[in-house]
Amino acid sequence: MSAPFPDLASIAAGGKRGLSRALALIETNEGTAELAALLDAALAQARAHVTGLTGPPGVGKSTLTGALLRDWRGAGETVGVIAIDPSSRRTGGALLGDRARMATDPEDQGVFVRSMAARDRLGGLSDQTIAAAALMRALYDRVLIESVGIGQSEADISSAVDSVILCVQPASGDSLQFMKAGVMELPDIVVVTKADMGNAAQRAKSEVEGALTLFERDDDWRPPVILASATTGVGLDALRRALADHRAWAEKTGALKRRRKEQQEAWVAEAIRARFGSEGLARAGDISSASGEGPFTRELTIAVELSRRLGAMQNVSDGARRPLS
Ligand code: GDP
Repeated sequence: MSAPFPDLASIAAGGKRGLSRALALIETNEGTAELAALLDAALAQARAHVTGLTGPPGVGKSTLTGALLRDWRGAGETVGVIAIDPSSRRTGGALLGDRARMATDPEDQGVFVRSMAARDRLGGLSDQTIAAAALMRALYDRVLIESVGIGQSEADISSAVDSVILCVQPASGDSLQFMKAGVMELPDIVVVTKADMGNAAQRAKSEVEGALTLFERDDDWRPPVILASATTGVGLDALRRALADHRAWAEKTGALKRRRKEQQEAWVAEAIRARFGSEGLARAGDISSASGEGPFTRELTIAVELSRRLGAMQNVSDGARRPLS
């Protein structure tokens, strides 16, 4: 007899251990109605603003994450961090050394840090990361997801966060790379890291500002470019203000609500495509939820219906989610 499936209140009451146990359930109960209901309940009670921090390896993401963490904890806010490790599938967690720089007080119940693997298909995050972030949104004041990619890359945070911060390293040619990759319309804030490197940082800032003018956004937010140094603390105030401004703008204009709705529809579409292929997705018809179902339950409803229609004998609610071939 297994223990009853926990609800949000009991997970919250269990502190960090409660959340660890719930994250384990995400793995063992994938594709079940109970898990979908829990995750949808978490989304409905989301309180965290979710920040995504992205940029190439070595740009200073972990160091900046540590600085933001200290900042938020200093202000009394609770924080959940998900660090996406794109190499862990191949190397068994080669980046763990980097995570040590984010070392947090294990006794502090207000901080939870979890490393997760990138998923093995291109673009987007793993279903488990999306699920973990959904749960953490309901439990913390802030959630931060750190990863190496946006756009079409292996661990794309842009489909899962409310504010995207792109980190660019001085004298690295990063801004040129990002322009070529066509991802310059994705960040809401750009940070030129290691501002203590002097002129090179200033030059990188001008380059990024130039690059940003080449891309049209479909809204009226103009991404600020901030020079910051996590080691000296320069620019962290400006970053804090920029995040607060973006959050306030997104709430006021309705952009936040729109973005979250689009993201949730994208999760459903992606999950259905991963399992049933593009043809299956096309057959699913309208994937948006008219009945007020949350996205996780919606995905399950569509999957059950598609399986039925495809004549598959598989019972999707028993946790099996292998692609139908
Ligand atoms: P990540 O791979 O993007 O997470 O980058 P890390 O945070 O691990 O930083 C990579 C390297 O850059 C480390 O050696 C850091 O000590 C260094 N670093 C990070 N932030 C700064 C900074 O603000 N100034 C300088 N000079 N070095 C930094």
